[in-house]
Amino acid sequence: MPIRTCIACKHKADPSSFLRVSRGISGGVALFAGHGRSAYLCRAETCIQEGLKKGRLDRALKGAITDFERLALKNQLLCQLR
Ligand SMILES: [Zn+2]
Repeated sequence: MPIRTCIACKHKADPSSFLRVSRGISGGVALFAGHGRSAYLCRAETCIQEGLKKGRLDRALKGAITDFERLALKNQLLCQLR
């Protein structure tokens, strides 16, 4: 079974227990979408806030993310907690 690591708190677990973010076809970031390089976050607001701090997700996905994309993604992720 593959094990993934939360980019915020470094917790390790099965991928199904995390929220997955990856690069979409257009190159932008998307929740649950796309293939290839992905980043994982716990289903917790603290990890979402920490993981989307400037630079962290960009490094995990190997490329810059715009402030607009970051804000849209944060809203999407927080919606998953409700
Ligand atoms: Zn975490």
